[in-house]
Amino acid sequence: MENCIFCKIAKNESPSYKFYEDKDFIGFLSIFPLNKGHALVIPKVHYRWVWDYPEIGKYFEVVQKIVVAMKKAFKTDFVIGAQVGDEVHHAHVALIPRYKDDGHGEFLNASIKIELSPEEMKQIAKSIADNLG
Ligand SMILES: [Zn+2]
Repeated sequence: MENCIFCKIAKNESPSYKFYEDKDFIGFLSIFPLNKGHALVIPKVHYRWVWDYPEIGKYFEVVQKIVVAMKKAFKTDFVIGAQVGDEVHHAHVALIPRYKDDGHGEFLNASIKIELSPEEMKQIAKSIADNLG
């Protein structure tokens, strides 16, 4: 779809901190992270909602594989998965690792944004990729 940032990322027309790619899906870091490791998993083909994706079981198998890698990479058992979909109109599952004393409290606080350098973003993407097995 034209002017869709996630379609552009999927086609490598926009840069991203990508850590996963197969023929149908990619995983990359959010550039507005709420926590270290905040990532998005999207189908390469444009669908408006996660629920529109025809092979949703396959989609969630990829999501699960990434969560397992994140848990190892960031040494946490707490990874939030969200299918909100009101910001970018291309199906995406957001994955947000939580850490002890990460400042969010009991519930994720969307007003907390963390600053990470390009070098840190590369390192975080690599640590997920390295744990994908
Ligand atoms: Zn799109």
